Amino acid sequence: MNLSAVSSKQYPSEGYPEIALLGRSNVGKSSLINTLINRKSFARTSSTPGKTQTLNFYNIEDQLYLVDVPGYGFAKVSKKQREEFGVMIEEYLTTRDVLKGVVILVDGRHQPSEDDISMYQFVSYYHIPTLIVATKMDKVKGNQWNKTISQVKKAMQINQTDGLQLFSSDTKYGKEEVWDWIEKHM
Ligand code: GDP
Repeated sequence: MNLSAVSSKQYPSEGYPEIALLGRSNVGKSSLINTLINRKSFARTSSTPGKTQTLNFYNIEDQLYLVDVPGYGFAKVSKKQREEFGVMIEEYLTTRDVLKGVVILVDGRHQPSEDDISMYQFVSYYHIPTLIVATKMDKVKGNQWNKTISQVKKAMQINQTDGLQLFSSDTKYGKEEVWDWIEKHM
């Protein structure tokens, strides 16, 4: 079953391992989830800013939950709403014992944002294994891919134990590698 939660009382209770997905709104998080599970619109794409944001737990064959964490950096929501999301996300990331790893999505076409860097610093501080996924790589010319890799590595100061994967929901590039990383960490 799939679940939505705003507080820890509502988290699933089966004890399956969880992998959380984090990223700015519009980075391609829903598209990544849909690609991973071979569905066109399982996760809803482009969540409306200002709407109630919840943690969405997607049950993967009763073995794993992929946890869609609301996008950070909402331009259109109030400061209070932002703080509430912050508390919810922080509580989840810092207290959830079945959380085995996080995937942080960054837009492969641009430099990682301050929010991307802060989010990575936050999960690193808590020693949560992390895979950085650079999305929308179908929009980046092949001869620029090495540049994307070095830009992201440099900006985010990726720890040796964490990973970086280039990805495209359009071409499915990187799908198997993301699954391999998840399976290794669950
Ligand atoms: P979310 O807000 O992070 O869940 O982002 P969505 O998955 O809803 O994607 C936001 C927009 O980016 C949509 O218009 C998607 O079609 C587009 N998008 C997402 N992933 C890719 C990708 O890999 N390549 C391209 N070209 N567009 C993408």
